[in-house]
Amino acid sequence: MITPRVSDIVGITNKIAPAELAESWDNVGLQLGDPAGQVSRIMVALDPGGDAVQAAVETGCQLLVTHHPFIFSPLKKISAADETGRLAIKALKNDLSIISLHTNYDIAQGGVNDLLAARLGVEGALPLKVTGGDEYVKLALFVPHGFEERLLQALSPFMAPIGSYRDCSFQGDGIGRFTPMAGANPFVGEVGLGHQEKESRLELLLPKERISGAVAAMKGAHPYEEPAYDLYPVLNRGALRGLGRIGLLAEATSAGEFARTVKERLAASGVRLVGEPGRRVRKVALCGGSGASLLREAARKGADLLVTGDVKYHEAREAEALGVAVLDAGHFATEWPMVQGLASALRRALEAKRFETEVVEFQGEREPFSFW
Ligand SMILES: [Zn+2]
Repeated sequence: MITPRVSDIVGITNKIAPAELAESWDNVGLQLGDPAGQVSRIMVALDPGGDAVQAAVETGCQLLVTHHPFIFSPLKKISAADETGRLAIKALKNDLSIISLHTNYDIAQGGVNDLLAARLGVEGALPLKVTGGDEYVKLALFVPHGFEERLLQALSPFMAPIGSYRDCSFQGDGIGRFTPMAGANPFVGEVGLGHQEKESRLELLLPKERISGAVAAMKGAHPYEEPAYDLYPVLNRGALRGLGRIGLLAEATSAGEFARTVKERLAASGVRLVGEPGRRVRKVALCGGSGASLLREAARKGADLLVTGDVKYHEAREAEALGVAVLDAGHFATEWPMVQGLASALRRALEAKRFETEVVEFQGEREPFSFW
């Protein structure tokens, strides 16, 4: 078993919630600390507030992973006179690093919104507001006969799956022609002489963000001094990504009955319903945290009801006008399932890498509102 470094955990969290999924205004990833620091214990929390930092330090954690960013507005100074500065100093003095996964974890598959959908029994959940899809490029490369397997093996970790199939490639036969010039050190052929070589053309699909890794791996495995290859833009798109989710309940119910279910399953202190309690609900949209801005998208996609938090008066009126019921279960209650979900995902990933690191869930967070 190995004790990982903070940078190893950044790598793991980047697989769970790739940083490039985050909204442009967001600040995600390593917020504070030393990438080289060793991590034997991690705490997961929703908020990077004083309680979480205190608990992480007290229980001997070297890393705190939160949903809400520790640093959101750019800091001009780090002073103990303000809360963020005080916590930053405390964390640094105690060798505590902080990573935040925010909108990237909202959007990620298996993230905040998929966890919420699973908790509420919303099945077949797809993104409510699509923000993008995996973008691909086609890599075509030319290798002398006999080197195909070696190249495909080197490229395998970078290839995009097609549906439920991985390692998808195509191979065709042909003749490569080239004349090595002065200064070349050719694998086959001679300087100054035209050469013909039986070659295979290999074609495969790469996610756009893996181009540089794939080209480096290809050059490393290719026998030629100057491998010939082409990268083509393609219009194929992979799995759609986006904010919120929309799916179906196994059985239709009433808005009032569903409100009771949501309150119970999220252990919420109270939920607020906009719309008739008796209206039929089957198609449910949801967005953990503040998702009232997705109301029109929910209406457009035919949702009977939107579950979210932080709903304002005028948004409730807009929902009435659009004919979509809204269930405000609170920012905290709709995001809280992420603590357990992220902790489990981290444990699985750490175990797969044989890293000896314990993950604890911060239990001290509470809904800030009380209901009277
Ligand atoms: Zn939030």
